[in-house]
Amino acid sequence: MNEFRAEVRDWLAAHVPAQPLPTVDTAAGFAAHRGWERELAAARLSVVSWPPEYGGRGASLLDWLVFEEEYYAAAAPVRVGQNGLFLLAPTLFAHGTTEQRDRLLPPMARADEVWAQAWSEPGAGSDLAAIRATAARADGGWLLSGTKTWSTRAAFADRAFGLFRSDPGAERHRGLTYLLFDLRAEGVTVRPIRQLGGGTGFAEIFLDGVFVPDADVVGVPGEGWRIAMSTASHERGLSLRSPGRFTAAAARLVELWRRAGDPADTAMANRVVDAWIGAQAYRRHTFETAARLADGGTLGAESSLGKVFWSELDVALHETALDLLGPLAEVDGLPGADGRWLDGYLFALAGPIYAGTNEIQRTVIAERLLGLPR
Ligand SMILES: Cc1cc2nc3c(=O)[nH]c(=O)nc-3n(C[C@H](O)[C@H](O)[C@H](O)COP(=O)(O)OP(=O)(O)OC[C@H]3O[C@@H](n4cnc5c(N)ncnc54)[C@H](O)[C@@H]3O)c2cc1C
Repeated sequence: MNEFRAEVRDWLAAHVPAQPLPTVDTAAGFAAHRGWERELAAARLSVVSWPPEYGGRGASLLDWLVFEEEYYAAAAPVRVGQNGLFLLAPTLFAHGTTEQRDRLLPPMARADEVWAQAWSEPGAGSDLAAIRATAARADGGWLLSGTKTWSTRAAFADRAFGLFRSDPGAERHRGLTYLLFDLRAEGVTVRPIRQLGGGTGFAEIFLDGVFVPDADVVGVPGEGWRIAMSTASHERGLSLRSPGRFTAAAARLVELWRRAGDPADTAMANRVVDAWIGAQAYRRHTFETAARLADGGTLGAESSLGKVFWSELDVALHETALDLLGPLAEVDGLPGADGRWLDGYLFALAGPIYAGTNEIQRTVIAERLLGLPR
C-alpha cells in the first residue's frame, strides 16, 4: 500500500464518526457535515488535489482517486461541499482569475462557504440553453432576476453559481453569463423542496434584482455556455462520481450476499458478480481517463459514457441489494436489516436524471462520439 493511501486510511479510521451523521438534507445534518468538512480541512484532506496555497496537497489525480476509494470504503460522511469542490472549483481553475481563486477557494476548502449549483429552471432542464433568468447590466456589476430550481443543498448553502441570460437578443447558446451570487443577498428568496426521503436539501431560488459585482463573473460575459459545458464535463466525468463510491458499495453487496444469499440462487449470484465487475470496470476506465488527463489530455463528450455507466450501475447494484434483503430492505433495526440500502436506492434512482439525463447523454454519445446523424 502506498504511503498516501495508508495515511488516509489511518486518519479516517481514527476520525470517521462511529454513528452516521444526521442526513445532510436537514439543517442540523448540514451543520454537522460542515463540522466534519472542517476536520478534514484541518488535516489537509478536504481537497488533496488542489495546490497547497488553497488548502490542498498538490496531489495527482490518481492520488485523489486513491483518497476517494479510502473515503468511501471507510463509509465517511457525504461531502456537503461537493458542488463547490467538484464542479465550481475545477471551473475556477480553468476559467477564473487569480483574484477569484485566492478569494473563493480557501473558504470553500474549509466549508466556511458551501456552494449550490443554480442552473436548472422550471422550463430549462435538459434544454439548458432555454434558461430565462436574466443578468442586466448595472453600475459596477449585474442585476439578476428569475427563478432557478432543483438546486441541491441550496436550502442551507451560502452561495451559488449560475447561468444567466445577459444578452436577450443573442442566439440562445450565446449571450449567457456565468455568475456567482450570495444566497442570503437582498432580493434572493430560497424555498426548500421536500424530497421523497423527507429532507429538504433541494430548493427553488427566486431572484429579484439581486446585485452581483463584476468581480463575481466567471470568464467573459456572454461566454457562459462554453464555461458551463466545462463544468458539466467535470460533473458527468471524473469529479462528481468517483469509482470509490461504487467499488465500496459493490464490496458491501458481496458481503451482503455472503451473509444473506442463497448459494443455490445462481441468478442472484450472477447479479452480484455483475455489479462487482461493473464497479471494477468503471474504476479501470476512470484510472485510464485520469492517466490521460495527467498526460495533458482533455475530457469532453466522452464523459457522457461514464455518466450513463455509473448511474445505471448504481441502480442495478442497489436493486440487487434490495432483492437480496427482501422485506428486510424496508425496515431498520431488526436483525439482518440495513436501511442504508433503501436510502441508497432512492438516491440511485436520481442518477439517470441529474448531471444531464441519460437520454440526453445517449444523444451526445450518438452524435459526438459515434458521429451518427442528428
Ligand atoms: C438529485 C438531483 C439533483 C439535482 N441537482 C441540481 C442542482 O444542484 N442544480 C441544478 O441546476 N439542477 C439540479 N438538478 C436538475 C437536473 O439537472 C434536471 O432535473 C435535469 O437536467 C433534467 O431536467 P428536467 O428535470 O427539467 O427534465 P426535462 O428536461 O423536462 O426532461 C424530462 C424527460 O424528458 C427527456 N427528454 C428531454 N429532452 C429530451 C430530448 N431532447 N431527447 C430525449 N429525451 C429528452 C429527459 O431525458 C427526461 O426523461 C438535479 C436533479 C436531481 C434529480
